[in-house]
Amino acid sequence: MSNDLKQEELPAVAGGRPVRDDFLPYARQWIDEDDVAAVSEVLRGDWLTTGPAVAAFEREFAARVGAAFAVAVSSGTAALHAACFAAGVGRGDEVITSPLTFVASANCALFLGARPVFADVDPKTYNISPKEIEKKITLQTKAIVPVHFTGQPCDLDPIHEIARRHNLVVIEDAAHALGAAYKGRPIGDLSDLTVFSFHPVKHITTGEGGMVTTNDEELYQWLLLFRNHGIVREREMLVEDQGPWYYEVQDLGYNYRLTDIQAALGLSQLKKLDRFLARRRRIAAKYNEAFAALPEVEIPYQAPYADSAWHLYVLALRLDRLRKSRREIFEALRAENIGVHVHYLPVYRHPFYRWLGDPDSCTLEGFYCPCAEELYERIITLPLFPAMSDRDAADVIAAVYKVISWARRG
Ligand SMILES: *Cc1c(COP(=O)(O)O)cnc(C)c1O
Repeated sequence: MSNDLKQEELPAVAGGRPVRDDFLPYARQWIDEDDVAAVSEVLRGDWLTTGPAVAAFEREFAARVGAAFAVAVSSGTAALHAACFAAGVGRGDEVITSPLTFVASANCALFLGARPVFADVDPKTYNISPKEIEKKITLQTKAIVPVHFTGQPCDLDPIHEIARRHNLVVIEDAAHALGAAYKGRPIGDLSDLTVFSFHPVKHITTGEGGMVTTNDEELYQWLLLFRNHGIVREREMLVEDQGPWYYEVQDLGYNYRLTDIQAALGLSQLKKLDRFLARRRRIAAKYNEAFAALPEVEIPYQAPYADSAWHLYVLALRLDRLRKSRREIFEALRAENIGVHVHYLPVYRHPFYRWLGDPDSCTLEGFYCPCAEELYERIITLPLFPAMSDRDAADVIAAVYKVISWARRG
């Protein structure tokens, strides 16, 4: 039997004992006893759905990111949907976003009958490039959804400048970027609308949940309407007032409410955000230091205007210096019990988006972004979450070194 065949059979492709005995996931929540106690307290009280805990969570969250208003919703995806609705996105509009993101950043346009348009990423930051946004603007463009990929803020000044010039709404997808800053100013206070997610892999969790922040009172009112079926109760806003019981549905809204059970968890998690961020930064710094010395990989470039929240740590392989593919290196790291991932397949490559682009031939015409394509072929996400120990981080470093020495040329 040849060596090649043996390697196919054996999971431990780099050979020897795996670096770890147990599997280290790429991300995971951090729940303490005080989180459990906060949720239990709500369960013993009067309010389960949207009540005082949601209001308190919104207040604290807005204060934390420096925004005037925050509206809690049932997921980051709901937050994107609500933000697009508040921005007035509708049938026939175009919404420009990054191809290198979770599908929800583009789906939010489709939910409202608008068309997602992809502007390619910058080869250094992997964030949407203002120059590419400019190229994609048409008379139909309504909004830009910049995504702070991995937690590093996009270059917002030129994006805001483009938006002003073309009268567009900017909705930041900050699902990766709670705690990040652009030119020293916290993400959440800088654009018309900013969207966060509280999925368990994100900076803080409510199980499922999301938030939209804004400084605009009118947008705030639209967000409130949208998350609660389009219901209006304020007497002065009713079309006709039939009595104290009376409310009206004045738009097509959804039930996107967050519960008090979840908000209590959110509040208690928010208290620990600084600690979580410090751990993420410390692990990212360890990785940077270790991998800067490895010529077969590129560590994540950090722009001078950006202070990343380090949601993800993405290594880019220099495939010209490696005799193994990204897939082989990925599988070798998994065999070392390191829970690597890939973020992301360019959104327009998903079959649903291909059918959308051209239902007959499934081509990518109009969507294709060469920079995102090139990156997708060579990126690997390493485990990064605050509950990781220094020992866990050392295991990741050891595994990367082991696998890269196995995979390097010559
Ligand atoms: C997680 C995520 C979302 C969606 O958030 P959910 O809370 O899972 O709905 C949107 N955009 C990006 C970039 C994300 O990472």
